[in-house]
Amino acid sequence: MPSCGAILYRGRWVKDPRVIEKLILESIEYMGRVTNASIETLSLRHGLNTAVVKVRGSVHGLISDYDEEVNVRVRYSEELCPRCRDMINERERAVIQVRSAVPMNGLLKRLIIDVVRKETIKNERSGFFKD
Ligand SMILES: [Zn+2]
Repeated sequence: MPSCGAILYRGRWVKDPRVIEKLILESIEYMGRVTNASIETLSLRHGLNTAVVKVRGSVHGLISDYDEEVNVRVRYSEELCPRCRDMINERERAVIQVRSAVPMNGLLKRLIIDVVRKETIKNERSGFFKD
């Protein structure tokens, strides 16, 4: 089941991929005068990533602006937002209802078990189940 793509930003789930950039830029402690900050490279894989941020500005009024590259550590993990989680729970409830309502032959039994297993694998991939 594909997730809605919402991102947890300051305790709220936001459907805007730009918040990733905001989070990274807000994590930097700037000194002096900053005229521009932009993310040069970023790849999001499960676990630790490094984003390269180019900062333009100057630490002193007599020094003209220059660029500096900053490495920002980004810890990335995927989990389901409460709404997506509810949808999966609903589906699991539906599967369980089928199981109890219909007399099961072997084929149907296998079918249902297969569905549950596929959902479980997907959940594990998306980081829903954590150790
Ligand atoms: Zn969601």
